Amino acid sequence: MKVAKFGGSSLADSSQIKKVCEIIINDDERKIIVVSAPGKRFSSDTKITDMLINIANLRISGSEANNEFIAITKRFEDICSELNITFLYPSIFEHMKETIYSPINNKERYMDAVKSLGEDCSARIVAGYLNTIGHKASYCNPKLAGLLLTVSFGHAQVLPDSYERLSALRETDEICIFPGFYGYSTDGEVITFSRGGSDITGSILSAAVHADIYENWTDVDCVYAVNPCLVDRPFPIREITYDEMRELAYAGFSVLHEEALYPAFRKGIPVHILNTNNPCCKGTKIVSKRRNYDSLVTGIAGEKGFCTLNIKKYLMNREVGFAVKVFKILADEGVSIEHMPSGIDSISIVLRSSDFTAEKERRVIERISLDLEVDEVVVNRNLSIVMIVGEAMANTVGTTARAATALSKAGINLEIINQGASEISVMFGVKDEYCDYAVRVLYKEFF
Ligand code: ASP
Repeated sequence: MKVAKFGGSSLADSSQIKKVCEIIINDDERKIIVVSAPGKRFSSDTKITDMLINIANLRISGSEANNEFIAITKRFEDICSELNITFLYPSIFEHMKETIYSPINNKERYMDAVKSLGEDCSARIVAGYLNTIGHKASYCNPKLAGLLLTVSFGHAQVLPDSYERLSALRETDEICIFPGFYGYSTDGEVITFSRGGSDITGSILSAAVHADIYENWTDVDCVYAVNPCLVDRPFPIREITYDEMRELAYAGFSVLHEEALYPAFRKGIPVHILNTNNPCCKGTKIVSKRRNYDSLVTGIAGEKGFCTLNIKKYLMNREVGFAVKVFKILADEGVSIEHMPSGIDSISIVLRSSDFTAEKERRVIERISLDLEVDEVVVNRNLSIVMIVGEAMANTVGTTARAATALSKAGINLEIINQGASEISVMFGVKDEYCDYAVRVLYKEFF
């Protein structure tokens, strides 16, 4: 059994929905389908979810949002009429009207209820269209199916006992069309995941029904070894492990929602990235263990927006518990630590600049200087993290040397080098202005 999730661009209009349905009916194993809300039809278009958020905000601020309501319902009306399922439209319209114009007792609760409408209507439409073209399919409500979430509006997590209930979907004899992005609290309120969360729904359902594969249909042929905006026709990745993907995602690869791989990873279910607009393309498989290594390095990524907190103290290496005291100060400020390369009498702590505000920096420096009696503590901002990632690197001598040589020949100063114990990635810290250039240099070296 396959679980297939289709993203917003795959459902943007009636012709995209037809492609989706074609893909669904082409394979009997595609039994559980997760859909996003309609996305952009063209680059300047607005995603349905963004339109809904705008409407909710307008209503919360006391406006009627009537024009916006007309615009959004028109999009669903057009889709229904172009798919010849106009009989569905009145119920979609009523459901939207009822939710959008409901009394606002709690802003967050109201926002999530409105935000979920895009996925909900998408699922009703896909099920309705499949039925009219002669395939048994039904809209599956997350509450009835038992997808229960924590009560954190806009950032929900799945409650573990949901898996047991959702496993019953395995017995479905018709195609089940499940709206992504939202579930319910135990009190029956709609709650959404964070943005892009339909990927999470797909992963949860795959794990719950022990799917053979989780297909994630999007609008790119595959994942590339480097950001295609930086390099012309980059090398396609056909197979990548969850671990490699995690490392690359950390340094800016955005393929799936960050939390989405976890449920599939725990059950070892392969995730297959595919293109709705080019279904014959092989795509990229994310797996537990790789069989093929097409290249020494699997991918290269770079992300701006980091900083280092550099601390020096003579005889630091002899002071038991020094690092713990620094961690405690950062934890008190709610700042999470990204990396920590260290010397004998010094440590550099890599942090995300956005987490480490100027206000927090001032308090942290004050506490470190006074409580820990250090010789020096400074913060360097404008740091980028550039990573080369590949499991094949673990057994190959000299990969770091090759990368460092290429970067030095290009005149890029390395602020930090860090290689994790797993040896599947090497991280270089460079100044922000060198980030994209460093990625290109490394790509040229390894591909
Ligand atoms: N429609 C939601 C969003 O735009 C969720 C998703 O598409 O995955 O964030």
